[in-house]
Amino acid sequence: MDGRSLLADLQAELRNYLIDNLAEQGLKSSEIAARVGLTKEAVQRRLRKRKQQRTRLQAIDQMYADYCLAECRQIDGLKQRSWKAQARVRAYGGMVDELVDLLAVIERDAAICHLCGQPVEPHQLEFDHVIPLVWGGAHNTANVRVAHGRCNAIKGARL
Ligand SMILES: [Zn+2]
Repeated sequence: MDGRSLLADLQAELRNYLIDNLAEQGLKSSEIAARVGLTKEAVQRRLRKRKQQRTRLQAIDQMYADYCLAECRQIDGLKQRSWKAQARVRAYGGMVDELVDLLAVIERDAAICHLCGQPVEPHQLEFDHVIPLVWGGAHNTANVRVAHGRCNAIKGARL
């Protein structure tokens, strides 16, 4: 992913965030459209997608809750993974911004692999640093995405 597409991604995320917030405040699609500079249809598409994502998030919460009951070390495992990543950042001489809340990352990404766009089942779960740590990428929430282990292995440390 180059800098320009990363920027476009962030702009789209920010716009979606604005649309969601305005919808929660009770604004109509046409009012939201006027504020964010999109067509009413584009706003409605986004709101439909948000509804689907919410339904999917509930399913994910259930799926991971079930998994955690079966594999009770999963939550601790997530914490340990974040600590390990921090140790790697320090080894590369980088900065540790924060302890990344990996469960929040799973929810934000709706458990979709950012490399192939397909759903990630708990046993396939890995986290990818969009800008690799070895390239100076930060270990923070913004730079961490959900990925399949197999997709992550293919990507390696390439950008
Ligand atoms: Zn994948």
